[in-house]
Amino acid sequence: MARIIGGLAVSHTPTIGFAVDHNKQQDPAWAPIFENFGPICTWLEERKPDVLFYIYNDHVTSFFFDHYSAFALGVDDRYEVADEGGGPRDLPAIEGHAALSRHIGQSLMAEEFDMSFFRDKPIDHGLFSPMSALLPHTDGWPVKVVPLQMGVLQFPIPSASRCYKLGKALRRAIESYPEDIDVAIVATGGVSHQVHGERCGFNNTEWDAQFLSSLVHDPEPLTQMSIAEFATLGGLEGAEVVTWLIMRGALSANVDLLHHGYYLPSMTGIATLILENQARPLPVDLAERYRAKAGEQLKGIEALEGTYPFDLARSAKGYRLNRFLHQLIKPDFRERFREEPEALFAEHELSDEERELVRRRDWRGMIHYGVIFFLLEKLGAVVGTTNLHIYANMRGQTLEDFQATRNQKVLYSVAGKEPAKS
Ligand code: FE
Repeated sequence: MARIIGGLAVSHTPTIGFAVDHNKQQDPAWAPIFENFGPICTWLEERKPDVLFYIYNDHVTSFFFDHYSAFALGVDDRYEVADEGGGPRDLPAIEGHAALSRHIGQSLMAEEFDMSFFRDKPIDHGLFSPMSALLPHTDGWPVKVVPLQMGVLQFPIPSASRCYKLGKALRRAIESYPEDIDVAIVATGGVSHQVHGERCGFNNTEWDAQFLSSLVHDPEPLTQMSIAEFATLGGLEGAEVVTWLIMRGALSANVDLLHHGYYLPSMTGIATLILENQARPLPVDLAERYRAKAGEQLKGIEALEGTYPFDLARSAKGYRLNRFLHQLIKPDFRERFREEPEALFAEHELSDEERELVRRRDWRGMIHYGVIFFLLEKLGAVVGTTNLHIYANMRGQTLEDFQATRNQKVLYSVAGKEPAKS
């Protein structure tokens, strides 16, 4: 069974990444930051977690306000380094533990946290800035990650209380994952700081000390504070520390505080923590109970013949082909698809199997493969095949036989005003 071995808190200010890239670890201005990171580096080296569950926030890099969500869980098996304006940093991509992500996602949803899920998105300094200072990475990274992106930039954002509850549910999720792996929870962000408006430059070292002490020893009262109260005491952007309550919620009630550090170089309080987990598994199979709860909603669905729930695993398998077909909503793409499909297949690196499914308009095969129906109907609209033809094909019937089972013999598709070419 998976174990949570501890919780880490680190700043994710981009300056840390800058200092790493320019070898400024010994520079007097930067040295105190790296001194505080030292014990975490050592802990990671000694304890060798298999996975870091990594809580961070994106800084309008990969998540924009056209669709903003509170809790976005990465479900990919690889995360690239984002370009934040000056080209991506020269760091290797990091491997994700996709199976653990899917388990956590399903488990949190079963506990009524309405998660969003992301893949195919590069990650910004929120993750890579501390990662690059904490772990060696010349030959790739020594751990896998499960990233949780918290949308804290556009209000409303989740309350401190909600974050803490999510942490508790996260603990149940991780501790019921059947693989024998060690997981550490990493919370990132600056403590007191404000970077916008006339109040920018606000810090409160006294509050930072109290917050850290409460977080370690007595986190519950913090969950009663409002975002405005966090902003009053620690600056508006400093209110991102509510996300640290996710990390704390995922740990045992008592923890060992192995290290804490604090440094205020310029704008943002940089705090570091190592908390070792004191959980001792009970001689009762709670894991099985949690897994059963996580599986409740889809239990028995496998008995439905000809039914393929589009779950996270199916979505992962069919992603490349679904992404290709999704582009058909763009006029230029579908024009090229009609004119030179083979060139497009090659550009989008579709596998031979995927190309063949599309060439043959193998509607049923595509469903079996992992394409979602609503992209089939888009392809149908582009190539002049009605939904009814697709339904009949999926059922393995002629159009006439299928039509005979309907009350109305209508043909329709999602095609708009463009003439379709069959
Ligand atoms: Fe930040």
